[in-house]
Amino acid sequence: MLRLHDTATATLQELDLRDPGRVSMYVCGSTVYADPHIGHGRFALVWDIIRRYLRWSGLDVNFVSNVTDIDDKIIDRANAEGRSAADVARQYEVTWWESMDRLGVERPTSEPHATEYVERMVELIAELIERGKAYPGGDGVYFAAEAVADYGLLAHQPIDSLRVGARIEVDEERGKRSPIDFALWKFAKPGEPSWPSPWGAGRPGWHTECVVMALDLLGDDFDLHGGGLDLVFPHHENERAQAVAAGRRFSRRWAHSGMVVAEGGEKMSKSLGNVISLPDLLERYNPRAYRLLVLQAHYRSPLTVTPKTLSSAEQGMERLDALARRFPDARTAVVPDAAALDRFQARMDEDLGTVQAIAELFDLVKRANTLADQGNVGAAQPLAAAVYEMCRAVGLEIGGSSVAPGEDASAQAAARDVARRRGDYAEADAIRGQLQADGWIVEDTPEGTVIRR
Ligand SMILES: [Zn+2]
Repeated sequence: MLRLHDTATATLQELDLRDPGRVSMYVCGSTVYADPHIGHGRFALVWDIIRRYLRWSGLDVNFVSNVTDIDDKIIDRANAEGRSAADVARQYEVTWWESMDRLGVERPTSEPHATEYVERMVELIAELIERGKAYPGGDGVYFAAEAVADYGLLAHQPIDSLRVGARIEVDEERGKRSPIDFALWKFAKPGEPSWPSPWGAGRPGWHTECVVMALDLLGDDFDLHGGGLDLVFPHHENERAQAVAAGRRFSRRWAHSGMVVAEGGEKMSKSLGNVISLPDLLERYNPRAYRLLVLQAHYRSPLTVTPKTLSSAEQGMERLDALARRFPDARTAVVPDAAALDRFQARMDEDLGTVQAIAELFDLVKRANTLADQGNVGAAQPLAAAVYEMCRAVGLEIGGSSVAPGEDASAQAAARDVARRRGDYAEADAIRGQLQADGWIVEDTPEGTVIRR
């Protein structure tokens, strides 16, 4: 079973499943107000790898990841461009999923949109007021953070030091009782999108959105809550505080993925001008190479993304693709080397040790090639089969570079998966027929339709 570094206890913890054999996990998704940058790409890949690895380990995974489609940043952009917030959110959600598809990131089991849950958010806020844990202020409804005894659990800081560290704002005007209190509901200014509430028209705060959607779709006491390291505090702290204050049991474990840094370890930030857009990166580099680059760093460490590290990952993909071309039968017709898979699994189970697992992978590539060079193809095949299997476990598609499916074929494969999920098998079969007519071999895998030549 996978052991991950649990942010709440700062120790490695095995997943402790509420329902045997089934993982329930929530990962904070995107706020759709701009094109995703490469940091979003790394984050999405890490969680896709964790999800796929859990499934490869034999578990069912219920993966919920939200779309924040109402937010201050969305409203700011809408105002600046003279269009509606819904219009802005729709546009950037399309861009988001396009990038995810190109990265081979699977769609979540559920992808709740914040705007679909506003009534439930209002209900939670009403309950928190009822319990004396929230109060209406000047510009919205606030959560009384100091009413939660272990507030600061994820930040690993006591309330006193959080209070001292909080940004000093014009709290009197806003009616905040403590600098660490945070908005659950924000009253609408003229022209802003709003929903009705007992306290005045407005919109939910971000922290309230996630706690409501997580509990609604996964239920109390779900297994794992994830996100980027930048979300530990205040976002996840505040999600958790609301659940605790409402008498609900929240996530059993917390895991966080590291950031992308520029050359020299410098933090990416817009003011530095070194933010690279994800669609740009995917235009310039093989999307599979970005997955390999992500795997070659530990998921909690900073990841340096530069033209050099990307090119080196592309070369790594070429070695894997060359192996796939040399051992095509090993994809399905050969039993993988059991000892190699055991070593892989042991490394992955230890806090997702992808660095060691990928080193193991390339060692196998080398050994398989050496054996085949010596004329011992029979001994090389199980090693090559283990390479295929390990790549499958982490979502690394290999063997496609000589005939990479173009956008059209990939789109058809994606459309076929959508049709299958809808139960429209006639349509799915028609698309399969078309792909086959175009010369593709169409495979059904747990990850969906895979096409190759
Ligand atoms: Zn969230």
